[in-house]
Amino acid sequence: MSENATYPGEKIASIEEYEAGYNAFDDGDMVRAATIGQKDIDKTTRTANINHPKNLSIPKVGDVVIGTVAAVMSSMIAVSIDYINGNPTTSKVECVCSTRNIRKRNIALVNDIAKLKILNHLNGTIHATIDESSLGILFTKCRKCGGKVVPMRDAIKCTECSWIDERKLSADFGKSDFVKLRE
Ligand SMILES: [Zn+2]
Repeated sequence: MSENATYPGEKIASIEEYEAGYNAFDDGDMVRAATIGQKDIDKTTRTANINHPKNLSIPKVGDVVIGTVAAVMSSMIAVSIDYINGNPTTSKVECVCSTRNIRKRNIALVNDIAKLKILNHLNGTIHATIDESSLGILFTKCRKCGGKVVPMRDAIKCTECSWIDERKLSADFGKSDFVKLRE
């Protein structure tokens, strides 16, 4: 391990001097590493980053990933992976997820945050499933007005315009601790 190697939670800079960048967060006092990796202090942008080892950024079969919905097609969604088993990744690997068996009007929207489980790697494509109660959408917005939505039995309702819609929600919907690392 070099002297730049970090472990999760390690102090890497003071928030008075640097903002938390990739794979880093601030605890109100210090910028800390969110993952193992190499410390990268960028004096130009005044951000403190952690470069994540490449070999951790490709999800394996059975891994649980959280990502941003990049595309929604008739029978599948494509998701750009942001977290693998809770560890942030900046490599922006995409996976696809079949939605053929999910009986919902709008399983996901582009830019929703989804939690998926990796099923297999086929022909260079990473396939994931959304079809478990813990899996599904963690964060979404109203399709009509972009407002905040709250769950209502199997559906969601907009707090702004009262539009009722459906999503394949995760059982973790609304418990959005992961958002802290994104901001
Ligand atoms: Zn709305």
